[in-house]
Amino acid sequence: MDVLKKVPVREQDPKVRATNFEEVCLGYNEEEAMEEATRCIQCKNPKCVVGCPVSINIPGFIQKVVEGNHEEAAKIIAESSALPAVCGRVCPQESQCEGVCIRGIKGEPVSIGKLERFVADWSRENGFVPAAPETTNGKKVAVIGSGPAGLTCAGDLAKMGYEVTIFEALHEPGGVLTYGIPEFRLPKETVVKTEIDNVRKLGVKIETNVIIGKSVTIDELFEEEGFQAVFIGSGAGLPMFMGIPGENANGVFSANEYLTRSNLMKAFRSDYDTPIAAGNKVAVVGGGNVAMDAARTALRLGATVYVVYRRSEAELPARVEEVHHAKEEGIIFNLLSNPVEILTDEKGWVNGMKCVKMELGEPDASGRRRPVEIEGSEFVLDVDTVIMSLGTSPNPLISNTTKGLDINKRKCIIADDSNGQTSREGVFAGGDAVSGAATVILAMEAGRAGAKGIDEYLSNKN
Ligand SMILES: Cc1cc2nc3c(=O)[nH]c(=O)nc-3n(C[C@H](O)[C@H](O)[C@H](O)COP(=O)(O)OP(=O)(O)OC[C@H]3O[C@@H](n4cnc5c(N)ncnc54)[C@H](O)[C@@H]3O)c2cc1C
Repeated sequence: MDVLKKVPVREQDPKVRATNFEEVCLGYNEEEAMEEATRCIQCKNPKCVVGCPVSINIPGFIQKVVEGNHEEAAKIIAESSALPAVCGRVCPQESQCEGVCIRGIKGEPVSIGKLERFVADWSRENGFVPAAPETTNGKKVAVIGSGPAGLTCAGDLAKMGYEVTIFEALHEPGGVLTYGIPEFRLPKETVVKTEIDNVRKLGVKIETNVIIGKSVTIDELFEEEGFQAVFIGSGAGLPMFMGIPGENANGVFSANEYLTRSNLMKAFRSDYDTPIAAGNKVAVVGGGNVAMDAARTALRLGATVYVVYRRSEAELPARVEEVHHAKEEGIIFNLLSNPVEILTDEKGWVNGMKCVKMELGEPDASGRRRPVEIEGSEFVLDVDTVIMSLGTSPNPLISNTTKGLDINKRKCIIADDSNGQTSREGVFAGGDAVSGAATVILAMEAGRAGAKGIDEYLSNKN
């Protein structure tokens, strides 16, 4: 064994996986996990724990894997995280725990994410369920949204003895974990549903098909439903568009809609009654993780797929691993290209996308080099479907229907990072609804802070 290198993880062959929705990464088996776990040198002051936004006792759980005591490893992780099988799959470990691992100075860091995934999968397969609280304190808290922020806040509060109800607008809980991140990166039936069920087993109730701001308002939750505090974890699900001609044509989707149709409404399965206009030649506009997910989904639905991004490969905001996987599967990258018009046929369907070539100029406010149009460089990309993946912002429905709830100019709810307190007494918030589109683990960190804030607030109240 070369201690400087991670034990390699098995993946589906790119040619095979480009035609199915099965998980790309197959994870470690027990033998591989135990071998990888021995690479952890059990630092006295482990930087990985500081690098983890929810401060998992990483050396502690890894040591239990070395000993073959996976149940104890699962208990250690459960102290800090309700979603380990999710985080083991989708966290950007390279910039967090693994990014500061001492092993990474001379060789490759310990594969912390894959070990977390192994422990979580082992728990599911062996029926390990985190312990539920024995008594409740009779205080009612409402959580809005069942994404990672809401689930974490609700789970932490239930463990402290609160009676928690999550209100979710969609018909399935999980937020982006369910409707955004594709099946081939995050399986729904096994991984996501099991971890949501574990939160339910802590005593949390989840009511789906309830849109706060339409079905019931936050004011009514306090005044008529007897809730004593509210946590808003409603995410940032409102897509942005470019504002170019033709963007309203048939065959133009936001990445959110395209992924929701595939993930939540199972458009990729022939036994479901909710098809998608999948497209034969698809352009995905944007270069982030969401763009990679949309592109790889369109590819699996049978299309030739182009990612159209106005800067160069070095500036692609997507994780390197995602870009690598997309290329392996056959996605074509049209870099330094910017759409200026979507062309349509006589029936109003997409019939090509007019683009211009770009070059990089001086750095802008974000520090990245500004793309500048090259005169006379127009070209038409032959596509029948366009997926816009330009970012999202919070939906203003809740802030528009709640008295005294302040938002900033990006429509994000203003809340204290340390405890989630908003401008409205008794109302706390966290996750993408506060930060704008970010990551699962940061949403979980905010959910955890919100639970602590609510506990302090309600403890001091009586
Ligand atoms: C396609 C895609 C891929 C991603 N990939 C990754 C990744 O690989 N790694 C990573 O770390 N992050 C990834 N992210 C980002 C990550 O998923 C989000 O940052 C995270 O889910 C935010 O969690 P949240 O709980 O704040 O919000 P969300 O997950 O958005 O959940 C909010 C929930 O609130 C509900 N809601 C909204 N309004 C209301 C209302 N008025 N009433 C009731 N319910 C409401 C929504 O339906 C939703 O279920 C990805 C995002 C997308 C879109």
